[in-house]
Amino acid sequence: MTLPGPRTLALALAFVAAYVLLDWLSYVQPVLKLGITPWNPQAGLALALLLARGAGWGWIVALAALASELVVRDNPAGLPVLAASSAVIALGYTAAAVFLRPRLAGPISNPVQATWLVGTAMAATLLVAAGYAIVYLAANLLPAQAVVPGIARYWVGDLNGVITVVPLFALLPMWRAGLGAIRRRALEVAAQALATMGILWLVVAFPADEVRFFYPLFVPVIWIALRWGVPGAALATLGMQAGLVVTVEDRLDFLPFVDIQFLMLTLGTTALLLGAVVSERRRALERVAAQEAEQRALLATAPDAVLSLDAGGRVVSANPAALRMFAAGGGALEALPAGQLLPGLELVAREGRSSLSASRLDGTRFPVDIAWAGLDSPAAARHIVIVRDATERHAAQARLRERDTALARSMRFAVAGELASALTHELNQPITALVSYLQAAQILAEPIQDADERLPGTLEKAAREAMRASDVMRRLRDFYSGGAPRTGPVDLAEAIEGVRAAFAERVRRDGISLELDLPAGLPPACCDRIQLEMVLHNLLGNACEAAAAQPPDLRRVRLSAQPSGDGLRIEVDDSGPGIAEEVAPRLFEPFLTTKPDGMGLGLAISRSLLQAQSADLALAPSRLGGACFAVQLPIRCG
Ligand code: ADP
Repeated sequence: MTLPGPRTLALALAFVAAYVLLDWLSYVQPVLKLGITPWNPQAGLALALLLARGAGWGWIVALAALASELVVRDNPAGLPVLAASSAVIALGYTAAAVFLRPRLAGPISNPVQATWLVGTAMAATLLVAAGYAIVYLAANLLPAQAVVPGIARYWVGDLNGVITVVPLFALLPMWRAGLGAIRRRALEVAAQALATMGILWLVVAFPADEVRFFYPLFVPVIWIALRWGVPGAALATLGMQAGLVVTVEDRLDFLPFVDIQFLMLTLGTTALLLGAVVSERRRALERVAAQEAEQRALLATAPDAVLSLDAGGRVVSANPAALRMFAAGGGALEALPAGQLLPGLELVAREGRSSLSASRLDGTRFPVDIAWAGLDSPAAARHIVIVRDATERHAAQARLRERDTALARSMRFAVAGELASALTHELNQPITALVSYLQAAQILAEPIQDADERLPGTLEKAAREAMRASDVMRRLRDFYSGGAPRTGPVDLAEAIEGVRAAFAERVRRDGISLELDLPAGLPPACCDRIQLEMVLHNLLGNACEAAAAQPPDLRRVRLSAQPSGDGLRIEVDDSGPGIAEEVAPRLFEPFLTTKPDGMGLGLAISRSLLQAQSADLALAPSRLGGACFAVQLPIRCG
């Protein structure tokens, strides 16, 4: 068992002292020396402590109750009876605290919490009162006929104590804010205090023997509860109760104090519930005001135009972005039909999102994307339309399309070139042989006397045609090889970003995680930008295809660039199955493919394009477990 710390000990001692003091202060009109008094704020203190600290403090409450019995009350009962009655008090309030704790986190701020407190307090105080009376009855210290009035008196006393003290205690952590508010509204507080004291004084100064003369006390309490919510209600009822206790002994002897306390109970409960409603309303209003301020700030800073439309489709309000977008030259949008700004809106509105051609006040048109939402508020049917200027997006898409088309065209050209070069290489030998054979045949045919006179001419024509075929092939190859590449400084980050953008959709669709590793400050490479993009396009296409063959969470492709030797090196790495064994030895040869619809030209073309500009393409060790292709580029041109 750990010993309690000094702070815990100090709190326990302070609680016991406060409990005894409160009991002593409110010790009026006890029943038969048994200490059954009609106002017990110490009960509220006990419940407040248990609510704040938990059921573990139940035994401190029992100790405080016992001390109080011994110190305050000149109780004729022996120690066992006093111990039993103290245990009843501690048990009752501990049970109430266990039940209430999850329902009352922090100060009471709404009627539901107030009702939980009042309801639970009613049950708990009744149980404690009954238990207390039974203990004394059993000890023969309370006559049977005094049991019911005793319970009633004890019950109302404890309940009054709980209802006034518990809400105040929960507010203790906010005392600074409370003091600030009182200082700000000092005049009002003074008026309310004066009114309360004045009415209390009237009630006491002109004694009448009927409770109804106490009803005016409701007026200041309700006034305070309405203005200050729960804190005001709790303070006002506490003030009333304390005031009555102070004045009761010598002035109100004509009325049983317990009757007044029943009235005070009604007053306290009413004020608490009313205060809770007011507090809740105030918080709701604060929330709404905060939300409105947030929305205003949001609308003011939103880059998109936000139009609020009435049920008839007219603009009710427009944010600054809307004014900039539609009324660039100044002018108001309010009360304009939305269809004038967004022709065709009524046709697409129900679909939620759409693209339209919008019209500015000066009649110029521009493309927009819109999102539409209906607000079915009870006050008025409204629509909210969010409009985003799509000019830039359309332009970017067009740029991307153009670039794709240019790349595809260059690629087709390169494919044809590679094809021509491969065919030239393959057919050159047989054609040369053919020409030699034909020339030999010409020589062999010459001495033949009775040969057809057309034979030499035919053989010569055949040789010429064969040479022409070879020539055509060579010219085709030269044409498609496209001359020398146009090299210049190329920013790798830009080139890589361009290729990444072209693959963005595919990467998203196939669920591939594409990592970029581009250190800042890389010098520009010296190469033909279009051809480099073609190569990267090819490599990234292969890498995505390879990665997509893996299970979804293993699909990774990594594009990186770094200085290497006296140049730069771009790597395209993937987590695919790696290079198949049968293609590995001849990977860069044309027409080598493992794909059913592949041409086997991509790598061959890429390598010859790069080699024509003092760059190179090679296979490198993969970090992602698949294939990694490395492009080595020079930095210096020429
Ligand atoms: P294609 O893609 O038309 O087959 P390529 O020249 O681009 O032509 O590729 C040739 C072959 O190299 C492919 O068929 C494939 O077997 C292999 N290959 C290329 N890139 C990769 C890669 N990233 N992972 C695995 N194999 C690859």
